[in-house]
This record gives sequence, C-alpha cells and structure tokens, in this order.
Amino acid sequence: MTVTTEATTDRLRSAAREFVAARAADLDAGRTSTRSDLSYLGAQGLFERGCSGRPLGEMVAVLEDVAAESLSAGFSAWAHRMTIEYLDRAPAAARDRFLPDLLAGRRAGVTAMAAGLKAVAGLGTPSLEATEVEGGLRVSGPIHWASNLFDDAVVVFCARVVDGAAQEEASDAVAAEPVAERTVIAVAALPTEGVTVNPGFELLGLNATASSSLTFDEVFIPADQVISDDLYGFVRGVRPTFLLLQTAFCAGITGESLRQSADRLTGLGEQFATEHAELTREYDSLHGRLYGYATAPDEVAAADLIRLRLDGSRLAGAATRLEVTLRGGAGYAVGSPTNRRFREAAFLPVQSPSEGQLRWELAHSS
Ligand SMILES: Cc1cc2nc3c(=O)[nH]c(=O)nc-3n(C[C@H](O)[C@H](O)[C@H](O)COP(=O)(O)OP(=O)(O)OC[C@H]3O[C@@H](n4cnc5c(N)ncnc54)[C@H](O)[C@@H]3O)c2cc1C
Repeated sequence: MTVTTEATTDRLRSAAREFVAARAADLDAGRTSTRSDLSYLGAQGLFERGCSGRPLGEMVAVLEDVAAESLSAGFSAWAHRMTIEYLDRAPAAARDRFLPDLLAGRRAGVTAMAAGLKAVAGLGTPSLEATEVEGGLRVSGPIHWASNLFDDAVVVFCARVVDGAAQEEASDAVAAEPVAERTVIAVAALPTEGVTVNPGFELLGLNATASSSLTFDEVFIPADQVISDDLYGFVRGVRPTFLLLQTAFCAGITGESLRQSADRLTGLGEQFATEHAELTREYDSLHGRLYGYATAPDEVAAADLIRLRLDGSRLAGAATRLEVTLRGGAGYAVGSPTNRRFREAAFLPVQSPSEGQLRWELAHSS
C-alpha cells in the first residue's frame, strides 16, 4: 500500500474533487459513466483509505468530497469501496486474486449485498440459492438491483446454501420452502459463464452508475471464491463501515446543497432563513457524529449508526428540496446542478438499508 502524508492526501482529495466536478453534468446526462471516476480514484490510491486498520475518517472524507460534486460518482465509489472492504476480509486466495485490481481501480467493484443486510435484520431471505458441488458451489437466481455493473466488474453477493437432497425430498411431498443450511458470501468476476447482466431502466438519476439486475444460472463458484459462510458474523463486521461510508455521501450532497442555498437567503429568500439555519445546525451535528464515529466504528452502538444514516438521508432530501425552492424556475431545469442534486437525493431513502428497514430496525433495537 502507498504511504502518504496528510498534505499529499489533501492534494489528492482536492484533485479528485476537481476531476469529478468537471464530469458531473456529463455523468448526470449519461454521456459518460462512473467507471472513469473509479479508475481515477483508484489510480490515485484513494480507495486504500480506511483499509486494513487505517483511519476510516480518511475514506469518509474522500467520499464526502466526491459526492459533493456528484452523488452518482460518490455512490459508485462507495459501492466499489465496499467491495474492497469485503475482499479485505476474505481468505488469502480471493483477497490476492481480486483486491489489487480493485484497489487500483483496474476493475469495478459491485456490492450485491442488500438482500443479505435485509436477511440479517430478519426481513427476508437472499434471492440466490447455492448447492454444493465438487470443488465449490452452483448458484442460481436473481439479484434485483446492483450498481457498477461494468464489463470488468467483481461482484460480491450472498446466497443461501440449499441441501439439494433434502430439497428434492421436500418437493416430493409439497411445494415447500427450500431447506436453507447456511448463507455464504462469495465473489464472481464478470464475465462468468451463467451470469447475465440485464438491461437497465432509465432512472430519475444515477444513470451513469451502470445499475440494473443480474441473473445467475447454475454459475460455478470455486470454493476459494467463498469469502465467508457466516452471513450474520460477516454483516456484523462490515456494517459500521457500510453505514458510515453511506452517510459520508449523504453528508457530501447535503453540505454542497446548503452552501449553494446560503447566498439566496435575502429578499424573498429570507422566508427560508430559519429553515436553512436549522438544516445547517442538523448538518453540523451529522458531520460531527460521522467523523467522531469513524474514529472507532466498532464501538458505536448499532442504534446510533442507524440514526446517523437515517439523518443523512433525510437531511439530503430536505436540503436539496430547499435548494430547488430557493433557486426558483432555474432549479426546475433538468440540466441544472440544483435539479441534479434534487433527483439524486431522491434515491437515498430507497437505498439499502432503506428508510423503511432502518426505521423498523430502530423500532426493534433494544
Ligand atoms: C439505482 C439503484 C441502484 C442500486 N444499487 C444497488 C447496489 O449496488 N447494491 C445493492 O445491494 N442494492 C442496490 N440497489 C437496491 C437498493 O439498495 C434497495 O435494496 C432497493 O432499492 C430496495 O427496493 P426494493 O424495490 O427492492 O424494495 P423492497 O426492499 O422490496 O421494499 C419495497 C416495499 O416493501 C416494504 N418491505 C420490504 N420488505 C418488507 C418486509 N419484510 N415486510 C414488510 N414490508 C416490507 C418496504 O418498506 C417498501 O415499502 C439499488 C437500487 C437502485 C434503485
């Protein structure tokens, strides 16, 4: 890994911000994709931030900066960085095979883990099923949503390992639920025989993030591409980083939106000064907690992390809505940065863990 001083980090971060800023409009219009941003950030060594015991706050800062310029790039970089986080915790064979290319941005990382996080919360089961075969697993089923589905993607997913024999017996009697023994987290690199990336839809925003669905049809996954067979333990381990880095891009877009609104609070805009001041106060609180928690992510209570992520997504929605209101008609034009932020922020309540899931978890946490 590259050793960098604080001054170098600051220089790299501001260069990255400029790089993304220059591309934000093209990303929003779908004239380019976030694949180039992943390459750039990787080539600068920025995905190494927060890895293997380095302070997570460094990675929080990178994602916050990038998302301040483009949530598409910030979200894509988050997904890529989470894939690195999973592989950093993988056994040596998978780590060595995939991690160097991901860190350097030579391949794109895909976190197809929404179903796993939901399952751990007690809200469903992963949609992929695996059966054990000689030398590994055969995996089939859909992944309903994933981003960074570029041609060179490395996909981390979870699948229920089903006992084929037991399932056959059960289906002889009634159409029973498959007998799930355990859930594994594993990795597949595109292209892999049996994996189909389905065409995407046109989205409200984030069209540059190569987001769509996948179908696995009897995909062979060698045993050394299984990262873990303990879904609960694995998710418990990565979840603080997952939520903090998501909050980082929520903070990025919120901060930029509030800054853009700040010089419009005169004249009629004065009507919104109190609301802007309140959102700024809440944003400062979010920012303080985010960086505070990032100093020791594993020591933060689960409920505090959930509240932080909920606040991040709510504030991004409120700040971008206020910005559109203050900007007037110009903010309603699709090509304006104000409009882009408003559309991009609309994704945050549905991103996994969705607002519904987080509220449910908070209500059920002790
Ligand atoms: C552009 C885009 C990019 C994405 N990228 C990724 C990615 O890279 N990786 C990834 O893993 N995911 C990704 N996702 C998926 C995303 O993270 C969420 O998982 C997804 O948006 C949740 O929406 P859903 O349609 O699956 O809804 P669901 O989660 O199925 O929810 C639909 C509705 O049902 C309710 N509901 C859900 N479960 C239950 C339950 N058990 N009981 C009662 N009610 C329930 C919810 O509250 C909601 O109202 C992406 C989604 C989009 C739109």
